[in-house]
Amino acid sequence: MSVSSHRRPVGRRRLALIGAAAVTAAGLGAVPLVMNADAAATDLAHGVLPAKDGWAASGSGTTGGQAADTAHVFTVGTRAELVKALTAAPAGAPRIIKVKGLIDANTDDAGKPITCQQYADGTGYSLAAYLKAYDPAAWGRSKVPSGGQENARMAAQQKQAARVAFTVPSRTTIVGVPGTGAGITGGSLQVKGADNVIIRNLSFSDVRDCFPQWDPTDGSTGNWNSEYDAVTLRGATHVWADHNTFSDAPHYDAANASYFGREYQVHDGALDITNASDLVTVEYNRFTNHDKTMLIGSSDKDTKLRVTLHHNVFQGIVQRAPLARVGQIHLYNNLYDTAKLNGYTHSYSINSRAGAQVVAQNNYWALSADRKASQLLSGDGTGAIAGSGNLVNGTKTDLVAAYNAANSKKKIKTTANWTPTLTAGLETSAAGLPAELAKKAGAGVLTATGTVAG
Ligand code: CA
Ligand code: CA
Repeated sequence: MSVSSHRRPVGRRRLALIGAAAVTAAGLGAVPLVMNADAAATDLAHGVLPAKDGWAASGSGTTGGQAADTAHVFTVGTRAELVKALTAAPAGAPRIIKVKGLIDANTDDAGKPITCQQYADGTGYSLAAYLKAYDPAAWGRSKVPSGGQENARMAAQQKQAARVAFTVPSRTTIVGVPGTGAGITGGSLQVKGADNVIIRNLSFSDVRDCFPQWDPTDGSTGNWNSEYDAVTLRGATHVWADHNTFSDAPHYDAANASYFGREYQVHDGALDITNASDLVTVEYNRFTNHDKTMLIGSSDKDTKLRVTLHHNVFQGIVQRAPLARVGQIHLYNNLYDTAKLNGYTHSYSINSRAGAQVVAQNNYWALSADRKASQLLSGDGTGAIAGSGNLVNGTKTDLVAAYNAANSKKKIKTTANWTPTLTAGLETSAAGLPAELAKKAGAGVLTATGTVAG
């Protein structure tokens, strides 16, 4: 049988199924939902967030670019093609962007790599001059850098940002094509003031700022800070991040230099959710080889921030998994492995502060011998972490009690002001998560029909 004669009946059968579903649903007045469910089951790129699947299922739910017309379904393999797909007119049209293979963000329009030095060229910036200008011995520690070299650094940084930061508009699905090693290296997807976005099956790696900024007023010893998260949500609503992998590889922080006695940190967050972002579901992702992993809220005065994290793996993570402020945040069935990995040493897993109302339910910690159950949480004394069924090495453990017993100040509150109801797939025991998520989490697991490879 030829390929085409084999395919035709399959296409017919699918159309027939959709038709039948529409007829059935017409009587129930729920045509769009049924058609969405059918599309989700048959085509990864048209998949939508299932009902009740975390905060992003609230209200109108999250459908991304599912309604795209054929002119707005793109397959991209280069940075230039990605930009073209993201900016194709009209703005706000539903769009599906299928990423095939690995896109290097630090490339020119012809696909040629751009080095940090090339970004610096013409700006007057050099690291040697910058270090000389803002050495605490000369500049002091009371004010942030300004003037010549700082202006030059900002100019160079903006040249890099113009290449590596990608603005994602409303009603967009960005999805990796299965079997192609799909992902973005060195790039930052930025969902800012946009609604209804799906990000699936992508591998994000080494999102590196060529031009970290020295801030002597950050903490008691100063810090080098960088710009880019692999995915940034600011004022974003209805976002579903599913089955992605986030890693600093191949540039681990252990390779970072040290200046003024502080790590020259070139990475920022993996997936940061800030500035009144709301209704976000983050599921079946793999976060690994990273320090500042997930900020929920950028300041204590942030707002909204209703976020669900479930069935994610955190392995070789230093901190912020997540750091939660302000919002109602549900963490269920996540897996945390505290073992040191490639120089990334666990500091804490979950930080609840600025009144955050976290419910942590049926998560699993694989606790390494160098860490204690009392070291898995952190807070400022105003945040809550409620919930039960959390396991540490297979044993039911009250993490908040362990933390509060070991800390005389800034105790974590034990009751939250809400009860989660959008809990699709919630497993009542965390015991099976290590085996299950080893197979099911991260990029490269989903098939073209949106199911998990067997
Ligand atoms: Ca930062
Ligand atoms: Ca960030």
